[in-house]
Amino acid sequence: MEMRIGAHVSTSGSLHDSVHRAVAIGAECAQIFVGAPQRWAVAHYSDEDVTEYLRLANAYGIGPNVVHSLYLVNLASPDPEQRERSVMALIDQMDWCERLGVLGLVVHVGSGKGVVPHDEALAFVVEGIEQMLSQTRDSCFLIENTAGMGSSIGSDFRDIGTIISRLGFDQRIRVCLDTAHTFEAGHDISTKDGLDAVIEEFDQYIGLDRLTAIHANDSKSPFGSKLDRHQNIGAGYLGEDAFGWFMTHPAVQELPFFLEVPGVAGRGPDRENVDTLRRLAGRQPSTIGLGSSSMVDGGDETADSRR
Ligand SMILES: [Zn+2]
Ligand SMILES: [Zn+2]
Repeated sequence: MEMRIGAHVSTSGSLHDSVHRAVAIGAECAQIFVGAPQRWAVAHYSDEDVTEYLRLANAYGIGPNVVHSLYLVNLASPDPEQRERSVMALIDQMDWCERLGVLGLVVHVGSGKGVVPHDEALAFVVEGIEQMLSQTRDSCFLIENTAGMGSSIGSDFRDIGTIISRLGFDQRIRVCLDTAHTFEAGHDISTKDGLDAVIEEFDQYIGLDRLTAIHANDSKSPFGSKLDRHQNIGAGYLGEDAFGWFMTHPAVQELPFFLEVPGVAGRGPDRENVDTLRRLAGRQPSTIGLGSSSMVDGGDETADSRR
């Protein structure tokens, strides 16, 4: 597979509108929420909406896509009820991944909130993922590395490696690397040598074959701050040079990239950020969503009419 450069897009209104939103900003792949990320309620989308999502994603060639899990999920919670709820929510979201034919579910596995000892928190996470795996089939489960805020699990590559090893190296367990979180957690990818060292460390503890998706975000908070704040590409503490090295690093050439940046106008990932990443990867600006869309039936469904 070739590198794909896309973004997180909203599913507000309907699932299939997310494809129009991806096309409108020139994205080649899209991350979405299924349901409201701040609520436990399971998502309800009509069969027609799902069919239209699949048709549009196929017609425009948008993919591979991912679903980002609910923010409420916490497999390491001190509260057993919260852990149980998290597993149920993950199973539901993995089912959606299968229905939508996406690559997998991106998850922040959780935090012991300073109450659960670190080792026990890791054990809870492993237990939760095990339960989820036994009740779902094909989709991948992508552990996202975190900034390390509030004792969250996943800022240390060793911990991610431990989780994967305790799960018997199940092939469905993958990793989504967030560039901002990586830097904020204290892995210095702002220099070329630093980046090489961090990729090497990732390979040592996790294995580069597990690296399956990238969240491309500059950081609004300083190195090692453990503060999760995203910034537009080139406008944060990482800067353009760092993304230039990142986008041309051999380890990421076949991966899908998803922007989760505020956007130049503050309305989320935009064509400017997509094209910045493309330029830094040595590629031409995206032509997706420019001009008439002859690939999709109905002239009133062009990307230009969407936000
Ligand atoms: Zn995330
Ligand atoms: Zn992220």
